[in-house]
Amino acid sequence: MTSPLSPYLVTLLKSLAEDAAAQRFPAGALYVLATPIGNLVDISIRALGVLEQVDAIACEDTRHTGQLIKRYGFSKPLISTHQHNEAAAAQKIIERLRNGDRIALVSDAGTPAISDPGARVVDAVLTQGLTVVPIAGPSAAVVALSASGLSGEGFQFVGFLPTKQAQRDSALQALKESTALLVFYEAPHRVLDTVTAMREAFGHQRRIVIARELSKLFEQIHRCSLSEAPAWLAADTDRQRGEFVLLIEGANRGGKEDEQFNEARRLLTLLLEECSVSQAAALAAKITGLKKNKLYAMALEIADQRS
Ligand code: SAM
Repeated sequence: MTSPLSPYLVTLLKSLAEDAAAQRFPAGALYVLATPIGNLVDISIRALGVLEQVDAIACEDTRHTGQLIKRYGFSKPLISTHQHNEAAAAQKIIERLRNGDRIALVSDAGTPAISDPGARVVDAVLTQGLTVVPIAGPSAAVVALSASGLSGEGFQFVGFLPTKQAQRDSALQALKESTALLVFYEAPHRVLDTVTAMREAFGHQRRIVIARELSKLFEQIHRCSLSEAPAWLAADTDRQRGEFVLLIEGANRGGKEDEQFNEARRLLTLLLEECSVSQAAALAAKITGLKKNKLYAMALEIADQRS
């Protein structure tokens, strides 16, 4: 059910739009403008003010951006600027900026230059001594971080891992000791494989946040240990659909405990070849000094994976 806009909101939006129109948007500048990551109304009033004033919009996909700005009521010349023509597009943009045009730079979704084209254009424009103005808005990484409850100790943005398995696994190995919270983007058809590889690389105890379809109808933010994550994804194919940000807590969080549990897992795997789950857990508890109930749960999981 949709509710009508309250008179208060109508007045507020009108007054904010007037404030945005009154702002100074210098001529001859490139406006690096973030667009929604799935929810059309996640656009700032300042961004709408810029879109109204610019002479052209440089964008990844002219059809996609054409439709987006149409929804906001704008029609502007579009300059195709994607990863394969960024250098040539930058030259066109620079010429127009020198003539005093205002140009917005957008990507298909979120903030340009974050796992998206844009950095080369910005670099070329700055190198020519021209003005670049960022227009803040959503980025999936930051949106996921804000709702993760894990972002207190700094983070490292990794973005997409290599798609080839060997390269992906060595990239994960290289990140294993990092104490920063790690932020990844992943495609839906790879998410289960990637999370399984993360469990092998980082150990079973570290926490992961699987942030799916942020700001959209089927948004889901699931927090669990890496040991549980593959089974959670596999339990429902809908959980492997859409767009994903994966956050993994830093090595210092699990630290020594991680190592102990990885060691215990190896021990249990051996013991389970000869003993029952409860015998294996009891023996492992005696050998390692770790809690029997945790080892029992781990032994059950190993036995389940085998059956
Ligand atoms: N520039 C964008 C930004 O600022 O977030 C990222 C572009 S990158 C090509 C697209 C990837 O970002 C997706 O494959 C997904 O990993 C992540 N992403 C984008 N929108 C998302 C959303 N609504 N929910 C979860 N992840 C999202």
